[in-house]
Amino acid sequence: MSGTVPPVTCYPGTVVRAEIDSAALVHNIRTIAARIAPAALMCVLKADAYGHGIATAVRACRAAGITDLGVATVPEALQLTDLLGTDPAVRRERVLCWLFDSDTDLRESVRRGIEIGLTNPPALGQLAAAAQAAGRAARIHVKVDTGLGRNGLTARQLRAVIPELERTAAAAPGGIEIVGIMTHLATADVPSDAATAEQLAKFDAAVRMVRDLLGRRPALGNPDALIVHAANSPAALSLDPVPGSMARVGLSLYGLSPFEGTAASELGLRPVMTVRSRVLTVKAVPAGHGASYGLQYRAERDTRFALVAGGYADGIPRAASGRAEVTVRGRRLPVVGRIAMDQMILDIGDAQVEIGDEAVILGDGITGPSAEEWGAWANSINYEVVTRIGPRVARVPVGAPAAAGQTAGPSAPEPPTAAEPTAGDPNAS
Ligand SMILES: *Cc1c(COP(=O)(O)O)cnc(C)c1O
Repeated sequence: MSGTVPPVTCYPGTVVRAEIDSAALVHNIRTIAARIAPAALMCVLKADAYGHGIATAVRACRAAGITDLGVATVPEALQLTDLLGTDPAVRRERVLCWLFDSDTDLRESVRRGIEIGLTNPPALGQLAAAAQAAGRAARIHVKVDTGLGRNGLTARQLRAVIPELERTAAAAPGGIEIVGIMTHLATADVPSDAATAEQLAKFDAAVRMVRDLLGRRPALGNPDALIVHAANSPAALSLDPVPGSMARVGLSLYGLSPFEGTAASELGLRPVMTVRSRVLTVKAVPAGHGASYGLQYRAERDTRFALVAGGYADGIPRAASGRAEVTVRGRRLPVVGRIAMDQMILDIGDAQVEIGDEAVILGDGITGPSAEEWGAWANSINYEVVTRIGPRVARVPVGAPAAAGQTAGPSAPEPPTAAEPTAGDPNAS
């Protein structure tokens, strides 16, 4: 499935496109995997691969030889296994998810061998019931809250759950298998923050408790095979060595920096998404002419306005109105007035711009404004910028994954896929 540039499947008339550079994605994956070795890299593909399109991301992961994949929700895990293969005996990849509610039906996930976070005490009963109904073990990662305050067992909850796990192992052997233990860090983007050390110390204590449990109750899992994972992008790129045997990395795969004030290029990463649009109209307007709803901008002099396709329905943040820039013919031009649902206005003065020119809305900082810049303009962060690029924006893969550097690490043959990921699938979200 790798080695060829996938066909572009935009509907005719598509103006705003997000090019997804598969070669850059493979490069980033390999760069991060090399940095954290010998720890394994779990590529986090939640939120439609952070807005980049999950099918393209899957191809890149395969090209880079990655077999550990994570998503947040159960529907995301089901979608991912539709692409990878639903039969865990055939599928090469591990798939982990960690977000569900007390009503979520976990049976199909257990049937597919999807690994699931044990995120709160009552979820144990839910997982055990799903395992019984599915007729196979629920493979779980004990999720520990070491300070972030989101889901996961506190130390006290973990102590209370351990006897329950022992009872479950005795009452329904083979129902629950503990595969891993995980936690999530709150301040890893702040280098050498004391809170990270505190969280990791609490995590170590939790890991010891679970290893002890597995030592007593081998039916619950192999203590030596326990996968221990805590690091996200900022931790994977700043801690040396990374804690545990695996890191869960999302943002940085896509070539974005998790650190304020550090560019992706300084981390050896290449932004994967470029959002391209076009100039729809160019016209001369007199001094005093207003721009967009509310007429909050008025031209100070006789000038020219260029209209560019792309607005907040495409995920261009309206909050960036009055600050944002777009690149046309290599030149940054100011977005003036409010960003509307579908379009925005540039005050181009006497810059050379013509109808039909390409406008780069989002680029690597040189080709066009970076996700970090858009984040700053919108009082937000690069994570939000890329994950919000809307479903109307066609994702167009460019660059063959296998063309990036050497061939994929493991020489294992490509496993059969239940559903070959379709390239350029513009719906993928
Ligand atoms: C999103 C997420 C990650 C990935 O975080 P990044 O900062 O994008 O690398 C890892 N673990 C959990 C639990 C997450 O929710």
